[in-house]
Amino acid sequence: MKTEIICVGTELLVGDIVNTNAQYISAKLTNIGIDLYYQTTVGDNYGRLMECLKNAFKRVDLVITTGGLGPTVDDITKEVVADYFGEELEMIERYYDLIVKKYNARGFGEVASGGKKEASILKNSKLLENEVGLAPGFFYEKDNKKIIVLPGPPREMTWMVDNQVLPFLKQYSNDILLMKTLEIKGVPEGKIDDRLKDYFEMSNPTVAPYAKEGCVHVRIAMKGDRGSTDYLIAEIDKIASEIIEIYPQAVEIKED
Ligand code: ATP
Ligand code: MG
Repeated sequence: MKTEIICVGTELLVGDIVNTNAQYISAKLTNIGIDLYYQTTVGDNYGRLMECLKNAFKRVDLVITTGGLGPTVDDITKEVVADYFGEELEMIERYYDLIVKKYNARGFGEVASGGKKEASILKNSKLLENEVGLAPGFFYEKDNKKIIVLPGPPREMTWMVDNQVLPFLKQYSNDILLMKTLEIKGVPEGKIDDRLKDYFEMSNPTVAPYAKEGCVHVRIAMKGDRGSTDYLIAEIDKIASEIIEIYPQAVEIKED
């Protein structure tokens, strides 16, 4: 399933915050073998987000958005998604009650006008629970276009990805992608490219060089059925030992 992440937030565009949400979701999708083809970042702007959604659905099957689910006027993600699909928003009482409780507990008085919007999701969507915040997420599907809408705060987004999104998405992918990275020091990347050219042209497993400061990382990655993990590991190890034979100084790098 081809996927695009759209991160919504002007703060991201002006360099106020680092887009850790995109990185987190990318790594998790890769782990479960879902093909991430694009990452887009867009400001809190109705027209531009709408344009991003239209572009995304021309090229992928699944869009995952983060950000813009809060109560303020700049939080527009749900409205745009609703308008894109021609669907209405509907309030989830349980989430509105949480907002009321928070207001009462802190003596804030009557809930602000955006509270209802914050507690709303698209009609006919599947609710994705947010147990660590106030804005629910959701999954919606129409005409083979799928979208997952998540809040921006990383603590909420990561909780939801781990506990709601990944278990749900696994039904769409039986695949797993396993990787091993070797670090090679003391050889320029051009030389490594010449020597390992045949490996770099392979398709599954793929072998790819990444030039780093003072060394080159060579990543061996293989995708396959979740049930064939042992086979995938053996294939990756086979290539790793061939490369170590060529470059005995190569060491394995542990990455999470
Ligand atoms: P809220 O209810 O807090 O307004 P929200 O779902 O509307 O949540 P945003 O308003 O877009 O989300 O972002 C809330 C905060 O989350 C931002 O100020 C920022 O600190 C953080 N954040 C948003 N998007 C990202 C991102 N892509 N990567 C890292 N942090 C992010
Ligand atoms: Mg917000």
